[in-house]
Amino acid sequence: MLSVVPSPVVVRAPSKVNLHLGVGELRADGYHELTTVFQALSLTDEVELSPSSSLTVKVSGEGADEVPTGRTNLVWQAAVRLGHLAGRAPLVEITLRKGIPVAGGMAGGSADAAAALIGLNELWDLGLTRDELATHAAELGSDVPFALHGGTALGRGRGEKLLPVLSRNTFHWVLALAKGGLSTPAVFKELDRLREAGSPPRLGEPQDLLQALASGDPHLLAPLLGNDLQAAALSLKPELRRTLRAGVEAGALAGIVSGSGPTCAFLCTDADTALAVSAELSGAGVCRLVRTATGPVPGARVISGP
Ligand code: ATP
Repeated sequence: MLSVVPSPVVVRAPSKVNLHLGVGELRADGYHELTTVFQALSLTDEVELSPSSSLTVKVSGEGADEVPTGRTNLVWQAAVRLGHLAGRAPLVEITLRKGIPVAGGMAGGSADAAAALIGLNELWDLGLTRDELATHAAELGSDVPFALHGGTALGRGRGEKLLPVLSRNTFHWVLALAKGGLSTPAVFKELDRLREAGSPPRLGEPQDLLQALASGDPHLLAPLLGNDLQAAALSLKPELRRTLRAGVEAGALAGIVSGSGPTCAFLCTDADTALAVSAELSGAGVCRLVRTATGPVPGARVISGP
């Protein structure tokens, strides 16, 4: 008798850069109130899901050794959550092919979680809507809803309350991946310490940046990029100052620490300039690895299925 082996579902999910990351007050629940503008980038992870006799997570690619394969992995938590909802055991093998740097401030774990939600909805034929998936996403982590949403969006609350943002044209980015990662909670803690010790400048509201995005002009956007976490990331990893300087000297319009870092993101005029900046940065010895990317790109989506 022929047995049919179901083909796996493969989902691609984007990384993100925060074009604007304003950090407000520390809330009673331990989170900070954020005002952020996310852009989804073409540096992606692929998540493959297949039926199995147990729940397992395998990881390959960029930084695979540092990714947990047990219950602390967000894809594991996504499988348990949707399994519970569907009243079935989460018997699935999940393979992560990482392109997004681990602990790099580009929300790689969140991208995988969003991909797992989309993939399991398909694999188990759950029929959940995008809105229902977004509710589960917000419970898995603050950046997971944006990884589902993609594009460019304004985030409030912990970053999970999203409004789409009009962004014209494609923007060209160079990403400098650092040696080692930075823990997001440690970077927020360092910002609290810096704020207690003095009053580092704080970003205002991002109206001008939203207008620059609507114009599609990278020259208008570049001077408006801002990240309240950058001072804290630089305090914990001072060598990032050299990286930021090197990118601008190489021809980028502006450089910024991505999220909680340590990845540095450089906005360039066009694709050719991005290639030239990436070649120069690769040779400058100021980072571990250089990648180019474009944004905005769509959120997590199935690229092959049963
Ligand atoms: P943030 O979303 O806070 O900006 P980040 O992009 O800096 O995070 P991630 O790559 O998401 O960093 O990983 C942060 C930590 O989460 C890692 O150190 C790792 O231990 C854990 N982790 C859990 N699940 C994953 C996953 N699927 N991929 C990568 N890291 C994961």
